Amino acid sequence: MIVFFYRLINFISWKFLYVVIIFATEKEEIIKHLRLEKRILTHLKNNKIMKIQMPILPYEANALEPVISEQTINFHYGKHLQNYVNTLASLAKDTEYADMSVEEIVEKAPDGPLFNNAGQTLNHALYFQQFRSPVKDNAPKGFLADAICDAFGSFEEFKKQFAQAAATLFGSGWAWLSQDANNNLVITKEANGGNPLRNGNNPLFGIDVWEHAYYLDYQNRRVDHIEACWDIVDWDAVEARMK
Ligand code: MN
Repeated sequence: MIVFFYRLINFISWKFLYVVIIFATEKEEIIKHLRLEKRILTHLKNNKIMKIQMPILPYEANALEPVISEQTINFHYGKHLQNYVNTLASLAKDTEYADMSVEEIVEKAPDGPLFNNAGQTLNHALYFQQFRSPVKDNAPKGFLADAICDAFGSFEEFKKQFAQAAATLFGSGWAWLSQDANNNLVITKEANGGNPLRNGNNPLFGIDVWEHAYYLDYQNRRVDHIEACWDIVDWDAVEARMK
């Protein structure tokens, strides 16, 4: 009996040592693989089509302070977005668009009120669900970080180009990071309620530069608002949108 236990413990400890050695030598690969699996699972879970309804706000209204105030969230999410959703629902009612997803309406609706309200409903759903409470030195990791470096040279260079696009957009609209038909990352400017999906791209991350997004907190200082937003991006949520 004692011999049996001795052999058992000996066997287990050798196995344990083997696992430790494998993990130590293949650590990078194992972590990379686990991250990839997590990304695929999250993508499958999140990649649902959107119905014409208010998206869930995944944090408290004051969670993004001081970057975006509770008052701005209450107006922007509670009033502006609610209005886009209500208008979209009433315009789509009793038409061929009534049973379509918001994404499908954005792709198919002719230019005009239906498209504008579908675009803004989709834009704001993506926008509000890509944020979290402020983090210092906030930056993407893993797969998305690699893709950004491949496309723009570095994360810093990406931020520079994205902020430039958002700051120089004339009037109301959005700056977007999206994947084109070949899954390459691109930055685009979209006027008014435009969304990259309209041109066949997959929207990943967007900054709203309509004045209602920042005027209460930053008045006319759009550039300061854009700069502050880097602290609140939930890069895991953004990565989960990648194809
Ligand atoms: Mn807005």
